[in-house]
Amino acid sequence: MKNPFPSAEFLDLLNLVEDFLTTGYRRQTREAAPNKNNPPPQVEEKKKILDSIARQIMECTNCGLHKTRRKAVPGAGSLSPLVLIVGEGPGASEDASGKPFVGRAGKYLDKWLSAVKLETEMIPLNRSANAFITNIVKCRPPQNRDPGTEEAVACFPYLEKQIEVLKPRSILTVGRIAAKLLTGSSSGIGSLRGQVYHYGKIPLVPTYHPSAVLRDPSLRRAVWQDLKLLKSVLEHHELR
Ligand code: URA
Repeated sequence: MKNPFPSAEFLDLLNLVEDFLTTGYRRQTREAAPNKNNPPPQVEEKKKILDSIARQIMECTNCGLHKTRRKAVPGAGSLSPLVLIVGEGPGASEDASGKPFVGRAGKYLDKWLSAVKLETEMIPLNRSANAFITNIVKCRPPQNRDPGTEEAVACFPYLEKQIEVLKPRSILTVGRIAAKLLTGSSSGIGSLRGQVYHYGKIPLVPTYHPSAVLRDPSLRRAVWQDLKLLKSVLEHHELR
């Protein structure tokens, strides 16, 4: 009779997938395997620091945006991200939920990520498994206007600290505001994109904002090229 129980190899594979999806970490050996009940110490420490940054953001009054926000949106995702995605600022859905990129632009961004299938990874880029998503400003600018320079400057230390703790392998900026701030260039996104920059030692790829591409589908080809650039950066950048 056929053995009705799953094989040890199959159970190992299931565990591997679960560990990877819940912690973003690959287990090294069966014994040393981190999992959601027993994460490696550095993950616990990172989580503590990121939670404390999130609390500071939620109580922040460093610029006028706190007066009109419903919820601040610190960011969310993997604690060991292959990519840190930096947008502009929360919109209405994000302000209501406290989560980044949950509206129409966010659903589109998820599609972009799932198109990036790395040869070195088992699963495509994904906001919970191997990406972290945040914004230049963590509170919604009223009527979705562009964040002002003073607001961006007041919020920047939070992003700096998030990058320092997360140590992402790459950064994808979406839209003109994030690209300008993180590359230090004053050029428009049309001329900035298509190249790799660095934030400190971290490779950075700028592309259009998903809302802009939803408005103007002729930008899709450029985004696809930028995602391919991100993929090659991730496949060739040495492991930390
Ligand atoms: N647009 C952004 O730039 N960020 C969000 O979180 C949502 C929409």
